[in-house]
Amino acid sequence: MDQEQLKQKIKALAAERNALLMAHNYQRDEVQEIAEITGDSLALSMEAARTDKPVIVFCGVHFMAESAAILAPEKIVLLPREDAGCPMADMVTAEGLRDLKAQYPEATVVTYVNSSAAVKAESDICCTSSNAVNVARSLPAKQLLLVPDRNLGRYIAKHVPEKDCICWEGYCPTHDRLKVSEVLKAKAEHPDALFMAHPECTPEILEHADHICSTSGMYEFASQNPAQKFIVGTEDGILWRLKKENPHKQFILPSRSLICPNMKLTSLEDILRCLETMQPRITVPEEVREKAKLTLDRMLAVPRD
Ligand code: SF4
Repeated sequence: MDQEQLKQKIKALAAERNALLMAHNYQRDEVQEIAEITGDSLALSMEAARTDKPVIVFCGVHFMAESAAILAPEKIVLLPREDAGCPMADMVTAEGLRDLKAQYPEATVVTYVNSSAAVKAESDICCTSSNAVNVARSLPAKQLLLVPDRNLGRYIAKHVPEKDCICWEGYCPTHDRLKVSEVLKAKAEHPDALFMAHPECTPEILEHADHICSTSGMYEFASQNPAQKFIVGTEDGILWRLKKENPHKQFILPSRSLICPNMKLTSLEDILRCLETMQPRITVPEEVREKAKLTLDRMLAVPRD
């Protein structure tokens, strides 16, 4: 079966199952093409809760499908590749976090949405890469435990100096391996380009950024800024929509290593199989789900800028 036939079959079966196909911004181009909705993990999970379709096919990684299951427990949430995990989310366990909390009993735990449901359930509040600074500022506690991304944690600490920030030593291997030399080379080759960087990049990379933002922030910045060229400091899957929405602008990836192998696992064949079998299904135990949902609800209650 060629790609077009596969896509037709997927669309027909999705309609038959009354399923909503959603894809994260880092998925393969053909997966984003077939999805009804693309976005970042929180936006997709919120959409999963809003839609009246009873089945969600979440093309992304495990913690994202869990977030959808947390916010939409009555729906069937399918993850086409159950082995698509997130190495950063796996760098912290609920048990490890409990140990750290015992060392800092006065601290408030701020956990990045890129984490398991069990870790969220051990936390006080969640944050995303776009609202992390706002969330940290909104908290009355003087001391914060920032979990699991040390790069996002350092970014928060820099912008909220009034807090005592303790960062978990996790990181996203994809963003963390971007080198300053690669960014400087791209800048030298494209002196008229603006450099947009994701806060999961190291502080050394962020020092060279013209704009630091989430993936959603990058779409907005690229379309609103009059610049014609952008160096993109995040996973290469973002290029598909950036190019689609800005066909006359140029987007440059400064490194070939900006590819997350887990995000690239899901194929059209996997999506078709998942719709045929209605597996693998992602669920979260109710006790964990209720606690994890509280941390997301608290985050959503923080006023935006
Ligand atoms: S890009 Fe990084 S944070 Fe996102 S899924 Fe891959 S490893 Fe995890």
